[in-house]
Amino acid sequence: MSDRGVEDVDLLVVGGGKAGKSLAMDRAQAGWKVAMVERDKIGGTCINVACIPTKALVGSARTVLMGRHAKVMGVELDDQPLVSLDGLRRHKSFVVDGMVAAHKKMFADSGMDFILGTARFIAPRTVEVETRNEPIRLLRGTNVVINTGTAPTIPDLAGISESRVWTSETILQLERLPQRLIVLGGGYVGCEFASMFALFGIQVTLLQGPSCFHVRIPMSPAKWRASLPIKGSAYDWAPEPRLSVVMPITARLSRSLKTAPRCGARSCSSRLGALR
Ligand SMILES: Cc1cc2nc3c(=O)[nH]c(=O)nc-3n(C[C@H](O)[C@H](O)[C@H](O)COP(=O)(O)OP(=O)(O)OC[C@H]3O[C@@H](n4cnc5c(N)ncnc54)[C@H](O)[C@@H]3O)c2cc1C
Repeated sequence: MSDRGVEDVDLLVVGGGKAGKSLAMDRAQAGWKVAMVERDKIGGTCINVACIPTKALVGSARTVLMGRHAKVMGVELDDQPLVSLDGLRRHKSFVVDGMVAAHKKMFADSGMDFILGTARFIAPRTVEVETRNEPIRLLRGTNVVINTGTAPTIPDLAGISESRVWTSETILQLERLPQRLIVLGGGYVGCEFASMFALFGIQVTLLQGPSCFHVRIPMSPAKWRASLPIKGSAYDWAPEPRLSVVMPITARLSRSLKTAPRCGARSCSSRLGALR
């Protein structure tokens, strides 16, 4: 390949997620010539569609819980807490937008070349980057780090295609709160969404097949139930009536789950579905 138009850097990072961005900033601050290419999420998955927005919403859910039990804590409120989807969305966007802005600044301050675009390898250690507004760029790294992360997938389960299914990403864009929600998968992502939506007043059923148990420390079903975020908290005196854990799950879904791929990082975060 001819070198024409190729920009050489000491470190080329493809994908600006958790791991890549820290390394890129660190090396840029140490004086390396660094380029980091990110397709569309400034700050990566965690900031935009995972840890941060969910924790913002968990904060809202905890506030609902506090409001419901304010009296027990000696605080008189005029009304019971009312959840507003618009309000939740505004709160989540405020938190996420603030983090994205902070990341933009950190990237610039570190001295790296942060490029918003999609990278494609065209030669060893060399990528072509298609950006939205600028001409295509060619970058070659003495060192190259691929940090393209994971994405939600929808498992191939009987009956799932006829259902209205959200993933952990699309459920963050809900246009209205459903009345009932089935969460497939009792890993940390599933438990977090199940607890949160139950506190928002939705009838939630959390399905967890024994063949795909993601809790790392082996524990009995009773202990697992007890470990669910809302029940293991300081609010034990107020078990949530709207969250039911079904285990083992129904025979049909159980058969499907048994044949579904085992939960690697890719599928865990995605076994989240909802039925109205
Ligand atoms: C709902 C949810 C909640 C979570 N909560 C937590 C939590 O509380 N705490 C915690 O520690 N973890 C949490 N996680 C896990 C955490 O989000 C991931 O472990 C982490 O984001 C993975 O980081 P990463 O750097 O590997 O990948 P990512 O952050 O996914 O980064 C990869 C980046 O690469 C980009 N990319 C992909 N292909 C290309 C390409 N060709 N060119 C350019 N860019 C590309 C993508 O756009 C993406 O931004 C949660 C996950 C989910 C789904």
